[in-house]
Amino acid sequence: MKLLRYGPQGAEKPGLLDDEGQIRDLSGVISDLSGPALSDMSWTENLDIAALPVVEGKPRLGPCVAGTSKFMCIGLNYADHAAESGMAVPSEPVLFMKANSAICGPNDPIIIPRGSVKTDWEVELGVVIGTPGKYIDEADAMAHVAGYCVVNDVSEREFQLERQGQWSKGKGCDNFGQTGPWLVTADEVSDPQDLSMWLDLNGDRMQDGSTRTMVYGVAHLISYLSRFFTLHPGDIISTGTPPGVGMGMTPQRYLTAGDVVELGIEGLGVQRQTCIEDQTR
Ligand code: ZN
Repeated sequence: MKLLRYGPQGAEKPGLLDDEGQIRDLSGVISDLSGPALSDMSWTENLDIAALPVVEGKPRLGPCVAGTSKFMCIGLNYADHAAESGMAVPSEPVLFMKANSAICGPNDPIIIPRGSVKTDWEVELGVVIGTPGKYIDEADAMAHVAGYCVVNDVSEREFQLERQGQWSKGKGCDNFGQTGPWLVTADEVSDPQDLSMWLDLNGDRMQDGSTRTMVYGVAHLISYLSRFFTLHPGDIISTGTPPGVGMGMTPQRYLTAGDVVELGIEGLGVQRQTCIEDQTR
């Protein structure tokens, strides 16, 4: 099932994408794609999709989950991306947090922060937690997954790497976390470690990879992260990016206003963003 949230920012409603590509309103079934609706997804069983109201027009899509307590990202989780970044493959997963306020809809603009000179892209598989847990065994980990989505881990490399301290400054800027278009329920993703993924900049292919080459797989990451804190429904794990980011190119290539970024993962849909200057006065 392809679950989504639609409507104006901050006022999104839950919905789903039916087999004809129409959005159906789920607000009569669940209050939102958060908390209880993710930890117990029995409401998806025997759902009479044809009886759900069709949403007319082309509403904005919001992030495909709500109520996220932690937006966890794994760094350097593809050996070839670590190499293009000039860094070693880590002996344990590298974790950093993106600010939850970075989370936005899949087609919301990439906002280039004031003073940015190195805004970059990263297509990533997002794992959304359903059943909460702590100290989760790797063998049980996949039962904690509500579903999967596309994430663009937008990154400002100068803020991230040249401004002292760890990575938060360059990872959590506003609109640096496009999430969606859909939360594809775990039952529809037969093998999350075998999904092709890609990213185009202005129509040119920049990233062309597969989750097959992840260093630490989804089950290991869930188990590993749950050693440090309880994973809650709606929490997002963004699992790292394959090669082809702007920082790794010769010469390096970074985003400027007007650039168009499209990215997708097999079975999980496509995002499309236009880059804009920060409009804050
Ligand atoms: Zn990343």
